[in-house]
Amino acid sequence: MAYSVREASERILSAVAPLAPLEVPLRDALGLVLAEDVVSPIEHPPWDNSSMDGYAVRATDVVRASKDAPVVLPVLETVRAGQRPTRSVESGTAIRVMTGAPVPDGADTVIRVEDTDGGETRVSIRDARDAGRNVRPRGEDLQPGTIAVAAGSVIGAAQLGVLASVGAATVQVHRRPRVAVLASGDELVDLDRFDEVRRGDRIVTSNSYTIGANVVAAGGEAVDLGIVRDDPASYAERMAGARGCDLLITSGGVSVGAFDFTKDVLKSLGAELHLWRVLMRPGAPLGFGTLHGMPWLGLPGNPVSAMVTFELFARPVIRRLRGERQVFRRPIEVRVRDDVTIGAPLTHFMRVIVEWDGDEAWARLTGPQGSGLLTSMSRANALLIIPAERPTIRAGDRAHVLPIGEGALSAVQLEL
Ligand code: AMP
Ligand code: MG
Repeated sequence: MAYSVREASERILSAVAPLAPLEVPLRDALGLVLAEDVVSPIEHPPWDNSSMDGYAVRATDVVRASKDAPVVLPVLETVRAGQRPTRSVESGTAIRVMTGAPVPDGADTVIRVEDTDGGETRVSIRDARDAGRNVRPRGEDLQPGTIAVAAGSVIGAAQLGVLASVGAATVQVHRRPRVAVLASGDELVDLDRFDEVRRGDRIVTSNSYTIGANVVAAGGEAVDLGIVRDDPASYAERMAGARGCDLLITSGGVSVGAFDFTKDVLKSLGAELHLWRVLMRPGAPLGFGTLHGMPWLGLPGNPVSAMVTFELFARPVIRRLRGERQVFRRPIEVRVRDDVTIGAPLTHFMRVIVEWDGDEAWARLTGPQGSGLLTSMSRANALLIIPAERPTIRAGDRAHVLPIGEGALSAVQLEL
């Protein structure tokens, strides 16, 4: 049974749930997904505080201050950040305050030091523009009982900072998925046997590298199980290394060749197989099943097919395991530079380079689209999506691309 990309994706994701939460020290949580709402126990900031180095005053005392007619006030004391005022601002007085220091009672304004003579016992104020300003109210950022960071958030720099602010020394997060990566094929070697490649006898298992790298980029931990030969015994033996992993990704051996054993070996090990083919190019043979509760994705062996099917199916699985709510990348609309015609009634994913031209993103093909041409993948920053029912795209037409990596978004400098 062959499924559309969407059906296959739904079937795969419906069999995958977020990993159980565990508690980790806050700094170890970077890049992981929060498994519970973290509620603030405190008010932040805890006091009305100054957003400027300057003088706390009453606005009514300074509204008429100007360069020609400065307002001169006695300075009652100086309050640094980390100190508390001992006095209140009375009408006709000022208290010198530093940024972050509590604003004394009685003041509704902080005049920035730049608009004064900087005096320590008396201050001359020569501008009224700050009247009524520069006081940050207590609790402006966080209130007790409000959700500081919501469950499902990816903990990046800002989230880490907020969690620290509310005292979350440890947090409940979803574990980073351990993903076993297994290559298959008698023709494959790793770099330690590159002399055989040089002789023309073997090829390097580039899939071990692309898949491993993508696992890490998707927020998982890659466990490289190496290469298995095209024989069932070799497979079964190596598969043991996947024990304790949360996902197994194999590449190769899922097609209809005489030595494509992946499916049979998995079955013999007790796997339940859920799907075999997806109506897409590249990458039509795609296996998915569960082996004693562990999901297994069988990507095709062709290097480009393996990468494209990883984007569509493996990345969302890893993100789901990580507890992320948004598991898909967002397609963006582009205009296409080339005429493109697809032969078979399959959803096509073509390697393109997306560049911005003014306000519009334009996609051009990387060149020939053979599924063994890995260098074209290395030049692409997006996949052009051509639905099966749209066999022809003319130059200038609009279509959607799926960005890959960060490349599609770079190269624009803020012109400010
Ligand atoms: P298969 O899916 O096993 O029929 O392999 C399809 C194509 O992908 C063949 O040309 C293989 O040599 C190639 N291939 C399979 N596995 C890998 C791998 N790990 N790295 C690079 N190429 C591979
Ligand atoms: Mg093979």
